[in-house]
Amino acid sequence: MNISPNPQPRGSHTYVEGSLPVITCDEACEEGLEKLVGASVGEVAVLNGLSVNINLLLLSFYRPTQARFRILFEDGAFPSDRYVLQSQVKLHDHTVQEALIKVSPRQGEFLLTTEDIIEAIKTYGESISVVFLGGMNFRTGQFLDIARITEAARTRGCLVGWDLAHAVGNVPLQLHSWGVDFACWCSNKYLCGGAGGMGGIFVHNRHQDSTPLLVGWWSNKLETRFNMAETIDVSKGARAFRMTTPSPWHSSLLYASLQIFSRTSMNEISRKQRFLSGYLDLLLRLHFDPEQMQVVTPQEPSQRGSLLTLNFTKMDVRQVYQLLESRGIVCDVRPPGFLRVSPSPLYCNFEDIRRFVHILKEVCMLCGRCRSTE
Ligand SMILES: *Cc1c(COP(=O)(O)O)cnc(C)c1O
Repeated sequence: MNISPNPQPRGSHTYVEGSLPVITCDEACEEGLEKLVGASVGEVAVLNGLSVNINLLLLSFYRPTQARFRILFEDGAFPSDRYVLQSQVKLHDHTVQEALIKVSPRQGEFLLTTEDIIEAIKTYGESISVVFLGGMNFRTGQFLDIARITEAARTRGCLVGWDLAHAVGNVPLQLHSWGVDFACWCSNKYLCGGAGGMGGIFVHNRHQDSTPLLVGWWSNKLETRFNMAETIDVSKGARAFRMTTPSPWHSSLLYASLQIFSRTSMNEISRKQRFLSGYLDLLLRLHFDPEQMQVVTPQEPSQRGSLLTLNFTKMDVRQVYQLLESRGIVCDVRPPGFLRVSPSPLYCNFEDIRRFVHILKEVCMLCGRCRSTE
């Protein structure tokens, strides 16, 4: 595989320029990911896909007792996460109704508040086994206060897991120092690692000696894996969750992308991101009537990443989307009214944003006219 050299990876294998050994292709991605998520050595592993990993992590971390059997999650969670949580509580013979607690935005609002989440943790605290939330909401672009929520939950004896599918590579994270118990993400969103690509997990070092409930031969330490011994010599930390041979194809896509990330830092990316999304937000507020379109994403820079979600209340958002697409704009539509726009700091600039807003205005005028002639 033709991949240029990276800062020397760790471990027992040295990487020759242009090569990525199959046997350690996943481990080669760990260092880059540790930097992106703020993890210590041993806390990150690369394996499977996201939904599989949520299930695997919960199998080990969600061990309900009579007193603590609930999972707290958020209204508006990604469907896959909801389905996983439902299947997990059923696996333990609980009903969804009694075991899943959902925090919702207040009446008529789209966003959650940290206060409401912490309030729910306080209310149900003694009965919660795991708090499992999406760090960056896929629909609204709201970035939750992971540090505060994690602390509030841990204070009440809950374990805390985060789905960071839309946060990794988008906003700076400090999972280790925030005390997060476990987290997971996919590499096909902000990590540009390709659809169906390798998922990633974070398991805090305080759990490094607890063996996952389910293991396979890839959970075995590399040094002894090929001894093919009768009993497993399980790896420490996140790597123990790996069961199966990683895909070198998908690992190399992720590895190549992480090399691009390694030329900068999440702080630098975040700095540019705040300028770009801030500029987009400003232009949208200047050029659009709030009666027609509102930016749903929090305006406060620390509560969002690059994604802005626009809510069209008077126009057919599918039509807006189609007209944008036909003009070469890549964005995403979530009916009834949401259009998601995400200027990537890795390759977008101010001029892209100015052009986008110009085209969006033109498209909205067309849509407005279409409606009035109907
Ligand atoms: C994309 C996404 C998923 C789905 O990931 P898979 O890799 O297909 O399992 C799950 N949860 C969230 C929050 C996502 O954004």
